Formats: sequence, structure tokens, C-alpha cells
Amino acid sequence: MDQNLQSIKRTLLILSGKGGVGKSTVAVYLAAGLARRGLKVGLMDVDLHGPSIPTMLGLQGKAATSDGTMIEPALYDVGGGSEAEPLRVISIAFFLKSRNDAVIWRGPMKTTAIKQFLGQVSWGALDYLIVDSPPGTGDEPLSVAQSIPGAQAVVVTTPQDISLSDVRRSIGFCNALKMKIVGVIENMSGLVCPHCGGRIDLFKMGGGRKMTGEMGVPFLGALPIDPSVVTAGDDGDLLEDGPTLEAFDEIIDKIAEPDSV
Ligand code: ADP
Repeated sequence: MDQNLQSIKRTLLILSGKGGVGKSTVAVYLAAGLARRGLKVGLMDVDLHGPSIPTMLGLQGKAATSDGTMIEPALYDVGGGSEAEPLRVISIAFFLKSRNDAVIWRGPMKTTAIKQFLGQVSWGALDYLIVDSPPGTGDEPLSVAQSIPGAQAVVVTTPQDISLSDVRRSIGFCNALKMKIVGVIENMSGLVCPHCGGRIDLFKMGGGRKMTGEMGVPFLGALPIDPSVVTAGDDGDLLEDGPTLEAFDEIIDKIAEPDSV
């Protein structure tokens, strides 16, 4: 495993306090955005109870292939210019016969699966490994944080107070593990109008920025509610333009150059 980890330059663990805030969506768009910039990116889905990444990328039904010792990641074409690199994707879903399989998995089994993903997948040299873990602060994010020295966290939240209080727990988790927090992303903040494509600010705005200021962690940006994100995800595609993608691009700039935040 150590040899494999040495060829990964930077690992980002995508965390959220609760489910449904768009953590997997953020993981996929960050990974694809970095790959479109010509970086070599792996996307590892260890959300055992709800592996949604294969559906979002149209990779359902993919089985893991192996030469007997190493497992090959699935390749996903991110589109973009000629410099774009294919995304290398591994999901726990590739190893399950049915979605119910994972429900009975206990802590040590999850840890073993994650260690295998890290040690026995032919990731090749990677600029980034993006890890989508289940919501909360359970076994999976803990295993990744403990197995990959130097892994850094990106925390996803929504503007509602409840998930902001959950995000405080995620930040506490990172602090307890001494894991660097790259920053917080506020998802579903405002709305992209389905008619004119313009951005409308709804509900409370700026909660994420305020909370991160109070907690002393960087704020990476806000992403609007965009109905086309859902349609694209259901079709197994990613958006290739529009206001949400522009917002992602600004966030990726900050992640790629953390000193700029
Ligand atoms: P999580 O991983 O936190 O459980 P998902 O990424 O699976 O959340 O997202 C939950 C649902 O919300 C999905 O249907 C996804 O398409 C949708 N979604 C996520 N982000 C946005 C957004 N910015 N605009 C509209 N829908 C979104």
C-alpha cells in the first residue's frame, strides 16, 4: 500500500455532516474539473451504504477487473479539451452483487475494503485522489484519514442551520485527527433559474461564509441549486457549461492554490 500511496501527490477527502447535501456531486465535479485541466485524478467512492458515483457517471453495472493482483479502475472521459485526462474511478458498487450487500458490513470489513482500494488498485501516478466517503464521522472517513498520511478535507454543507451545526462536527473530527481542512463549500445556495439561466439568491445566504469565519477555516465558495445538475446526474452525464460549472471552476482554482483562499 505504501508504494501506491507514494505515487499520489494529494488526497482530498470530501466530507459532510449529513446525507443529501451534495457531497458525491461535489466529489465528482471536483474530480472531473481537475482532470479537464490535464491533471491525473483518481476518484474513490467508499460510500458503502449509498454508492451513487457509478450512476452519476453512467458506470453502473461495471464490475471490477483484475489481473489477479491489481484491480483496474474504470476510466471516465470527462470531455473538455485535448489536454483532459480520463478520470480513474473505483466504487464499492463495482464489488457488490446488490445494493443490499453492504448494509451488513461492519467496521473492520469496511476498513479492509478501503485499505484494498488504496493498496491494490492500479491508480498509477496521481496528482489528486478524491475520496467520497459516507456522511458523518464514521469508520470510512476515519480509515481514509488514518491510512493516508497528509490527506486533506473538503467539507460540503447547505445553507440550513441544521447542516451547519453538523458541519461543525465534521470540522471537529478533522481537528481531532489533525487533518488539514482545505475549506468548506456551501452547496444548494441560491437557485439557477430554469427559464433564464440566471442566478437567484433564496433563503438565508452567506451562512457558510459566516460559520467558516467563526471557526477559522477557509470558505471555498457557494454552488447554486441547479435543476440541470439533477437531470445530468440521472442521465449519467456531467454538465459541461453553465453557472454551476463556473462556480465549480472558481472553487477548483482555490483548491489547486490553497494559499489564495
Ligand atoms: P450526498 O452525497 O450528500 O448524499 P448527492 O451528491 O448524492 O448528495 O446529491 C443528492 C441529490 O441532490 C442528487 O439528486 C443530486 O443530483 C442533487 N444535487 C446535488 N447538488 C445539487 C445542486 N447544486 N443543484 C441541484 N441538485 C443538486
